[in-house]
Amino acid sequence: MSWGVQHAPLVVLGAGPGGYPTAFAAADAGFDVTLVDDGHVPGGTCLRHGCIPSKALLHVARGVREAAALADCGVEFGSPRIDLDRLRAWKDELIAGLGGGVSGLATARKIKIVVARGTLSDQNSLALAGPAGETGQLEFEQLVVATGSIPVRPATLTIDDERVMDSSDALELTEIPGKLLVVGGGYIGLELGSVYAALGSRISVVEMESGLLPGADRDLVRPLSRALDEQFESIRTQTSVDSLESRPEGIEATLVSGSGERDCERFDRVLVAVGRRPNTAALGLQECGVELRPGGQIVVDEHGRTSVSHILAVGDVCDGPMLAHKASDDARGVVETLTRSQGSDTVAGTSIASDPVIPAVIFTDPELAWCGLTEESAKGESRQVSVARMPWSASGRAQSLGRPDGLSKLVFDPSTGQILGVGLVGVGAGELIAEGVLAVEQKMTVEMLGKAIHPHPTLSETISEAAEHARGRAIHMLPRRDKR
Ligand code: NAD
Repeated sequence: MSWGVQHAPLVVLGAGPGGYPTAFAAADAGFDVTLVDDGHVPGGTCLRHGCIPSKALLHVARGVREAAALADCGVEFGSPRIDLDRLRAWKDELIAGLGGGVSGLATARKIKIVVARGTLSDQNSLALAGPAGETGQLEFEQLVVATGSIPVRPATLTIDDERVMDSSDALELTEIPGKLLVVGGGYIGLELGSVYAALGSRISVVEMESGLLPGADRDLVRPLSRALDEQFESIRTQTSVDSLESRPEGIEATLVSGSGERDCERFDRVLVAVGRRPNTAALGLQECGVELRPGGQIVVDEHGRTSVSHILAVGDVCDGPMLAHKASDDARGVVETLTRSQGSDTVAGTSIASDPVIPAVIFTDPELAWCGLTEESAKGESRQVSVARMPWSASGRAQSLGRPDGLSKLVFDPSTGQILGVGLVGVGAGELIAEGVLAVEQKMTVEMLGKAIHPHPTLSETISEAAEHARGRAIHMLPRRDKR
């Protein structure tokens, strides 16, 4: 079937957390918007195969672990019985419900949704390919590319066997493997490894770097590593996978340690989580003059414009962390660019901040979160910083939750006391980091944060007490010698 040639003033390609906020904000600003995505449920990878299903399953995993941990308080439950079909159906209903919400909001904003794969055929039109073989042409005046990212799959980890999974496959919950090899000790490997561990799989993680979560501060990673040592069968750092071979009984992996030792082990399934790359290949971008970096990232200016000025880009296709909230922030910026180019005087200044504070959260148990300057990057830049730490073992709330395994830390300027970065590890750290974002974004000092009254007994007190500790005034810690 042919859809023929249609015309749209503004097209957004991709309906993930970069694309749909762009479409919504543009529609609110008065644009006639067409949103093109090849998925039936809008929301992108984040909603369909990423953030939301993984967090739903991590919620279940935490429930399983917390129920078991209550034995320490004298309350015992039996072993969990897992009905995989029901769990999968619950997760899928959640996705469908949220997707329906996004669709409803799009319809209410009079956004046209086109379910099709779009590829640039020239600088002003997309070739459309629908799910039932439909074809068409969509001409546009302005285009925002928001096609997200896809998993990296190195050749050594690519074999034709469905037991070797990426994160989307793993979130389908086809089965609970007895032994699961997780390649990559980053965000996805640790989050999904935690899910499968709670469901009953024996997890082996291999990470090529010297520690888990390279790039995160080591004092934050340590409590998480200790917890994962309990949850996982093995964690091997400075180890990579040389080859995977498909056997009827399982997948045979050849692991190579940093010292060159080789070791062969069989697993029921393998999850490859070694990073993601921008989903920009085969979109016709370069052919139409849109400049890409060697890694596939679209080059954009501070207004979100590509080298073809009426084509803009947001989210994982651009430089920067591949995080949904960063993509949604980009969306705000490009809509301001579009609005200004319409000559609207309702939008002041530019909102694409050159150095925004983008929080990172790993939703393991305990969670790990940080924002702003990390101690590691300060060291890398030879920048003088002071650090104040508040171990959660001194928090009444953490103790009453049975979770003293956390740490709150502030990285601050030794001369002004300005908070430059906040790092947290502990249960609920992903929620708590929002306060850190405000503190760093609003250039608060340790004095300001320490003086702000935090409710007792809450985990948030560990942040204000870290700030007080910076000034030698923490109640539950002895004064530091280098207090401000
Ligand atoms: P990642 O970059 O977080 O981790 C990949 C890990 O794999 C790294 O530690 C790397 O050193 C290791 N590695 C690479 N090649 C290897 C090999 N051959 N053998 C062993 N280890 C190897 O990537 P990811 O976990 O795939 O996640 C991709 C991106 O998705 C993340 O960067 C993040 O931006 C995003 N994400 C975010 C969240 C969240 O916000 N909670 C969750 C999932 C994914």
